[in-house]
Amino acid sequence: MRSPIRDYLDAVIRDTSDITSGKVSDDIPELARVDPDLVAVSLSTVTGTVYSSGDHEHQFSIQSMSKPFAYAMAIEDHGLDEVLNHVGVEPSGDPFNEFSLDERTAKPRNPMINAGAIATHGLIKSDHAPASDRLMDLYSQLTQRNVEIDESVVASEMAAGDRNLGLAYLLSAAGALHLNPPAAVAGYVRQCAAMMTVDDLALMAATLANGGVQPNTGNRIFSRATTKQVLSVMASCGMYDAAGDWMTSVGIPAKSGVAGGIIGVLPGQIGVAVFSPRLDHHGNSERGSEMMRLLSENLGLHLMTAG
Ligand code: GLU
Repeated sequence: MRSPIRDYLDAVIRDTSDITSGKVSDDIPELARVDPDLVAVSLSTVTGTVYSSGDHEHQFSIQSMSKPFAYAMAIEDHGLDEVLNHVGVEPSGDPFNEFSLDERTAKPRNPMINAGAIATHGLIKSDHAPASDRLMDLYSQLTQRNVEIDESVVASEMAAGDRNLGLAYLLSAAGALHLNPPAAVAGYVRQCAAMMTVDDLALMAATLANGGVQPNTGNRIFSRATTKQVLSVMASCGMYDAAGDWMTSVGIPAKSGVAGGIIGVLPGQIGVAVFSPRLDHHGNSERGSEMMRLLSENLGLHLMTAG
């Protein structure tokens, strides 16, 4: 049976079909092989009902959309104060892969840029299992299916990974990394290469919208306090050096990935995910950003709108 929400999502795809600007990422050569015209949108309520349109069964690597979840795991492992001792929460205004450390504290400025994400990956406890395995388990709990890594994306990113390796050595030299640099980058790259659909990602976002409880299983995955912290950092730093523009135009906590996905969270209401591989110069999906802006405008999602 057709639903008005599904019809609306079809319209979001139709109304953005003229956006063909932007460029598929070639930082990770494997990502450049994607069909640039793939497009999908999915929305999950906090009760776990998922509506989607477009190529919603297409799997792609989550890339930096992994960062909020890895940050949540590090906080659950150590407590917030300890994590804050290692990674800050200030927007850097820098591109995602900037060689960026706070000069005064010698810490990465936030966990959403690569420097902070690599440091965060190094914080995740790995006494019993590698952090990337623990993250796959976490993703599987969040999506209710067995999430897997695309090894070709891993190999491709490792082969082109000098910049992240350089960042990891910079962190290590500053005393801000708890793993040796090659191990930290190898784990971080695996964390990013998990394959998901927009439906999976909408459910992940809906768990954050639902205060850390997975909507369908009812399992508490993150504490309320952890969830609040993660959403706050997504709001201020999730869209890299476009975070301010994003907050004014779309107005919800979000995180993009360089494969073309974006997740957004309206606390207490819904999680959304969009996918379109062509990126703007910040590394955020061009058409995906416009789909998010339309959703925000039409559904009244902007957090700063009264009533
Ligand atoms: N794995 C990618 C990198 O570290 C993630 C970047 C992104 O999605 O913005 O370069």
